[in-house]
Formats: sequence, C-alpha cells, structure tokens
Amino acid sequence: MSHHAKALVLSCMDYRFQEAIADFCRELRIAGSCDYLAVAGSALNITRPNQEQDRAFITGQIEKSLRLHAITQVVIINHQNCGAYGEFDLESTEKVQHYADLKKAAKIIQDHFPELKVKLYFANLKEKGSKREIEFEEVK
Ligand SMILES: [Zn+2]
Repeated sequence: MSHHAKALVLSCMDYRFQEAIADFCRELRIAGSCDYLAVAGSALNITRPNQEQDRAFITGQIEKSLRLHAITQVVIINHQNCGAYGEFDLESTEKVQHYADLKKAAKIIQDHFPELKVKLYFANLKEKGSKREIEFEEVK
C-alpha cells in the first residue's frame, strides 16, 4: 500500500521545542502527514557538520522520505539558545548565524533534490521562570 507524506520536518532534538513544533506543524497543515527528523543543531548538521557523515546521514534520510513517502517539501527549523551552537554574546549575532546556516542548508538540499521545496523557520524562545514562549518566524 502506498502512503504519501507532505513534508519532512528537520528540527533540533531539544525537548523544550517539541510541543511548539507539533502545534506549528498543525498551523502549517502538515501535522499527521510529515516525516520527522530531530537532530541536535538541525541545519548545522548540513552546513557545518561535526563529522562529514553527519551531512550524509541527513541527506540519506531525506532521500528515504522522498522515495518511501513521496514528500514534496522539506521544512527546516532552527532555534534560539541551541546547545549545539553554544553561547552567543548578542542575540543579533545568534540570529545572523542561524539565518545564514538555514539559507545555506536550503541551497545544499536543493542541489541534492531539485524537486523539493525547502521552507525555513527560526524559533525564538522567551523563558520566564518555568514559562516558555516560542514564536516561529519564516526565514526567506
Ligand atoms: Zn538545539
């Protein structure tokens, strides 16, 4: 039986974002119809992998998602305060780095898979005590 998904979602593994990402996928109307790949640092594994095989792992998973579920798009979500990126002195510097990685990752994926659309998002995080507010912005 063939079964199709709309997208593959690549995000960081960070537990603080999982509920918000699930809600956001409902907003994007891909919830229940997307393959999900969660790895520390998200786009970082494509643009500046710790080891070369990390990038091949991600592209291999996208290839499987495309072959098995006929996805038409890849959604990449990076987030503020990411442990894989480490500390930044300024919020603005942090954002510039994530935006650059997301855009570069999109280019690399599109070089590998020209048939796929790539959408990019950055999740902003505000923590007040135990309260967590997460806002997604599209990166173009
Ligand atoms: Zn992270």
